[in-house]
Amino acid sequence: MARFRSLRWRLTFLYLGLLSVLLLAGGVAQYFAAREVLFRTSAEALSSEYAADLLAFRRQIGTRPATSLRALMLSHQFATELASGHTSAAIFDANGGLVTSASAGITPDQPPPTLTTTDYLDAIRTKPKTYYLATATDGSTHLAVLNVIRLGSKPIGAVQLSIPTAVIDQTLQADRQLAIVGSLLVLLAALLLSPLIIGRALRPLKQMSDTAGKLAGGDYKQRVAVPRSSDEIGTLAVAFNQMAAGIDQAFEVQRQSEEQMRHFVADASHELRTPLTSIAGYVDVLGRREVVDPETLQTSLVAMQQESARMTRLVNDLLTLTRFESGKAPSRQPVVLDQFVGRALDELSLRDKGALESRDLQPGVTVRADPEALKQVVNNLAQNALKYAPGAEQHWSVFQADGRAAIRLQDTGPGISRQDLPHIFERFYRGEKARDRSTGGSGLGLAIAKSIVEAHQGTIEASSEPGQGATFTAWLPLAA
Ligand code: ADP
Repeated sequence: MARFRSLRWRLTFLYLGLLSVLLLAGGVAQYFAAREVLFRTSAEALSSEYAADLLAFRRQIGTRPATSLRALMLSHQFATELASGHTSAAIFDANGGLVTSASAGITPDQPPPTLTTTDYLDAIRTKPKTYYLATATDGSTHLAVLNVIRLGSKPIGAVQLSIPTAVIDQTLQADRQLAIVGSLLVLLAALLLSPLIIGRALRPLKQMSDTAGKLAGGDYKQRVAVPRSSDEIGTLAVAFNQMAAGIDQAFEVQRQSEEQMRHFVADASHELRTPLTSIAGYVDVLGRREVVDPETLQTSLVAMQQESARMTRLVNDLLTLTRFESGKAPSRQPVVLDQFVGRALDELSLRDKGALESRDLQPGVTVRADPEALKQVVNNLAQNALKYAPGAEQHWSVFQADGRAAIRLQDTGPGISRQDLPHIFERFYRGEKARDRSTGGSGLGLAIAKSIVEAHQGTIEASSEPGQGATFTAWLPLAA
């Protein structure tokens, strides 16, 4: 039973129901239309039969004085001539009174059906209708036509010719049976074919539900075949595939961010372990000796201090990075860049650290920023140039272009290799030369600068031709 509750069968039954109603309505309409046509043609046949009979009768009686002609036309003899087969004839006078009647064929003794006197009077005075339906004394219905008899132009009466409608209905009976059998055959064919056709049209839906099951099971690469037709099911298939692609993409993003997180935790742990191992080593060595000479103690303490300072820096860097990557908006205030960068560079006193520092700071370029964070960007860029371009020129500029503010540092150091350039803003990425622990940092400096600039809706970029120095530009939105 559950089978018949499926969409396929429900549509089939709906379709068959609709088809039956249409066939029935069509059959009924056709029956009445055919009956009307038959009534009209029978009425026309009766009228032409009358015209022929009238002509023959006139010829038969020849020319007679008007009065006797009138009597003849209203006579039983004329009625008998007109009655034949199923046709009965009745003659009425100019006042609508029955003069005489004659029946032949199936109902010879029965009086012909009569219409109302008004019908006769109306027909004589104006024009008879195409046909009338009259009821006989036995209750049977008859189709009747009226013909006005005239002498000259004066109407003297009316002749009614009628046949039982049962004769006409016999023809319709056969038609009706044919229509019923035909309709049943159409319904049977529809019953056999529609589940197949509907099933075929619904096949993509079945496929979609199978695919949805597989998607739910974790196979996000599954898609449905899109039917060539651009109908509702085709549109649904396209939308379904878009949804599947969306889910796939969302899971891919999640997988990637989990992967990045795992890497980050692994890298951070690794970076923290190195100084810890080093400190543990010194502690171990000192612990094993009964007597420690002051010189060894001094070197060990200095080394341990350096390692712990390095660890503190790393932890602080990690905290800064997570703070700006968390998406929390920094607390901002208007910052006039030329003054701000000038002060930051003065504090750094780069010349004292061996750099050839020069400035070109366009006055009045203002942004809205967290000054502490922005100072860190300047610091990190300056420290990198000191580390990787020692003794080189550091040219700092502040300017406004394309509706944005920029802080730029150009150095004349060795530049960045093509392999390193796309990765230098990644967390823990160190350039080939920087992997030597004595000069290189932990690979977080530029990642922090990037996270700070992006938290201010800005961008940071680096360009370099190896041997020609490096250029770093931080772009920030201008203060409104
Ligand atoms: P690090 O802690 O190694 O300095 P950063 O994120 O600050 O990490 O820098 C990433 C890498 O970018 C560095 O290891 C270095 O290879 C390269 N780099 C940064 N600044 C410069 C520069 N001014 N000149 C050449 N290379 C640079």
